Parts: sequence; structure tokens; C-alpha cells
Amino acid sequence: MPSVSLFTPAPQFSNDVADIVRVFLGKITLFINEEGGEAVIRHQEEETAKGILCRVSLNDAYTREAIRTPENSELLEKRYRKRQLKLMVYDCLKEMTGFTPPWGALTGIRPSRLVYTAMDSGLSLDAACQQVQQIFDVQDEKMQLLHDLIEVQSRYPQPTEKDVDLYVGIPFCVSRCAYCSFLSEEVGKGKQLLPYTEALEQEIAQTLRLIDELGLRPRAFYMGGGTPTSLPAPLLKRVLTACKPFIDRVSEVTVEAGRPDTIDREKLDIILQSGATRISINPQTSHDITLQRIGRHHTAKQTEDAYALARQAGFHHINMDLIAGLPGEDLRMFEETLRWSHDLSPESLTIHSLSIKRSSILHLLDVPLPDGQMTAEMTRMGQQAALSRGMKPYYLYRQKYMAGHQENVGYALPGHACLYNIDMMEETGTVLAVGAGAISKRVLPEKGHIERAPNVSDICHYISRIPEMVERKRAVFTADWSHLY
Ligand code: SF4
Repeated sequence: MPSVSLFTPAPQFSNDVADIVRVFLGKITLFINEEGGEAVIRHQEEETAKGILCRVSLNDAYTREAIRTPENSELLEKRYRKRQLKLMVYDCLKEMTGFTPPWGALTGIRPSRLVYTAMDSGLSLDAACQQVQQIFDVQDEKMQLLHDLIEVQSRYPQPTEKDVDLYVGIPFCVSRCAYCSFLSEEVGKGKQLLPYTEALEQEIAQTLRLIDELGLRPRAFYMGGGTPTSLPAPLLKRVLTACKPFIDRVSEVTVEAGRPDTIDREKLDIILQSGATRISINPQTSHDITLQRIGRHHTAKQTEDAYALARQAGFHHINMDLIAGLPGEDLRMFEETLRWSHDLSPESLTIHSLSIKRSSILHLLDVPLPDGQMTAEMTRMGQQAALSRGMKPYYLYRQKYMAGHQENVGYALPGHACLYNIDMMEETGTVLAVGAGAISKRVLPEKGHIERAPNVSDICHYISRIPEMVERKRAVFTADWSHLY
């Protein structure tokens, strides 16, 4: 792993600098104000009559210099000081490596936020995109993607302070995928399933009471995980029945049935009868050999059967997740997956790029991961496939260590975008979340402020601490945050 020494009067920005360096050099060890790095970044600031002179050098060979007028607001000063440092480090690295990353100097999870911020200052969508592209050196195709999805999002109703989504987390899966970074335990012998369901029923009942007390308006329901359908049918029914008072008041109800090997007609009927409008069946690839490699104990044929069963049961909106960049896959294999997915006709499609956070596990496999260039080409193919079916991008997020510096994009046929996904990914909608590890968010859109109330992640602790989980939510939702503005 390469190492970098960063000498700076602003060590509080070292994580942000590290994010930029990783875009060019991959995983690094960063020494802050300490010798020992193979590469050396020097950052200096000096007050001058014209403003603050900022200098950055990389290995004493690549340098940038600029003057910044200090901001009156502490918050803005911090933002622009950090941005200036990141952009100068970015420029030096770009010159040294000759590499232009697809997202330029953007390293955040939600690149669309910057466009929205520019629009809040009065710019049109086109002008805001231009501004973000110029500042952060974003490549045309990525900027177009952002532009198109913001246009789609503008066609859906924006949440207000009174709207609330309910998220229900089921942190169990039938086996663990090699790339998984979610909170999820293997079902195993299933000993925890009943106590977990009972605890969840309590938390749901108390959270629904809280929604009424606070006068919140139900907007969308989402049950995810883990794999909700890894619960046996009677327990799945109990959880959905507990949510019924909320479900009956919303027009969008999603249940993730991620793994095709957890689906049967009984569970599909339970989900449909609960009021579900959308189900997610996620094969990730059409290649059995890859499925085995990544620890998913199902086949492509089981996915085909699950789709047929879901259609017969009466589901009109099925979402499909695919992953570009899976171990051992090449362009031909990904193209086959896309063609196969086309035949199954999902109404919405999410194309993920493999996040190689858990690369240690993936590298234990004796097959190579596609390189960054190939993964980038796969995401391009995925985009073409979605567009050719009449879908449009409607949400996007990025993660650290994404293969080929790509992104995850949700596409949907007109009228089929998932409101919950938009609320979550754009962080524009309030969410009350129940279940182990679930995080509730109170969004104050007018003020651009978010407060979070996380539940404990450990399943045993969760089961024994339900009153505390509800109190955490109540505290965040009843507090007066006006002192912050
Ligand atoms: S199905 Fe999803 S949550 Fe479950 S192990 Fe795989 S990636 Fe993790």
C-alpha cells in the first residue's frame, strides 16, 4: 500500500485530502505532519494584503498556488478552505498521474447535492450543472447523468417537514455475500428470528404511536435488510401486519425479496396482501459460476422462476439489482446478464458498481476482479441497456473504493421511480426506521439540517432495548433545533 506524508496547518481536513489521494493511488497510509511517506504533500497558507495565499506541492515537483478571500461566516470559511485544498491536491495528482477521474474531484456520496445547492442559490439546472462541472472537473457523461436524474426527480412530489417514510430492517440473510457491507447475519438455525420479530412488533407499534403523536404524514414504506424474505412466512406476516396501519395510508410500499431462493408463493401472497406495490428481486448476475463465487447459494434459473411466480401472484412493479465488476466477469458476461435481465422485464433496475471495501475477502477468490476500465465500460453498457428499455436514471450514490470510480444508479420506467429511494439517497425525506442497526433521520428541508437516531446494531442488544430505541427517536423528533439556525 503506498504511503503519503501530508504536511498541513489544517490537519482537520486530512480525511478529505486522503479521499482525493485514494482516487488516484487507491488505498493509502496517510502520515499527518510526519515524515515517512513515499509521496509528500506540502500545504502552506499565508495572509497577504490580497487575501490568504494557499500553496500546495506534491513531491516538490507539482505545485499550485491561489489566493482566497476569507468568508465572514465560519461555516462558509471552513467549506471553501477545505474545497480549495482538495482541488489543489487534485490538480497536482492529475498532473503527476495523467489520469482524469470520471467524477473529477468529487468524492462525496451524493454528487447531486452540489447541483441542488447551486440551484438553491438561484441557478437553473443547466447553469448549476455547468458550475459544478467547472469547479470539480467532472466528465461530461457523469454530468449528463446527474442532470438527467435531477430532471426526473423534479417530476415527483418533494417531501415536506411533515412527511415521513417508515423503514423496517430485517438483518438476516440465508448466506453472506462476499462483498456485503450491510448489517446482516446468516439465518443459521433461525433461533433469533422469533425473538427478533417480537421485539420488532413492539418497536413498530410504539413508532406508529409516535408518528400519530407528532402529527407526521406517512409517505412511503420500505422493508429491507438483509433479506426480509429470509423470515419464515408466519413471521413475515406478523411484521407486515404490525405495519398495516402505516401501509394503509401510503401509495408506495416496497418489500425487498433480495435473494430468489427465499421466495415462494405463500410469501409473495403475504407481501401482496399486505398492500405491497413494489418488490425487489435481485439476482446481481445471470452467471451461476459468479453466484457461487460470491457466496449466493441460488442460480439464475431460480431468479427466472421467482420472477414468473411474482408476476403470477400479481406484482406489477419488480425491481432488479445488478452488479458491474463482479469477480471473474468480463464484458461478454455482463452483456449476457443485461440481455437476460431485459427478458425478465423489471420495471426498475439498479446498476451497482462493485465496492471493493471488502477486497480482502474478494481477493481470496482465485479469480481476478475486472479492472477499473472494464467496470466503467460495464456501467456504460448498463446505462445503455436501461435507456434502451425506456428507463431513466432517478437516483445515484457513490461509495468509497468503487471499482473504476463509478457509481450506483437507479433507473426506472416513467412513473416507477421509488420515492423512498429518492428520499434516502438525496437525504431530503424524514425516515423513521425500526430494526437492529436502522437509522432514523429527521430532515428539516428548509434549514438543510438532518438529525439522526441510530438503533443499536447488535441483534441481542436490540431485542432487549426496544424502549430505549423508541426514546432515541422521540428525543430527536421532539427536540427544538431552532437554536442551530
Ligand atoms: S443479500 Fe444483501 S444484505 Fe444479504 S449478505 Fe448479500 S449483500 Fe449482504
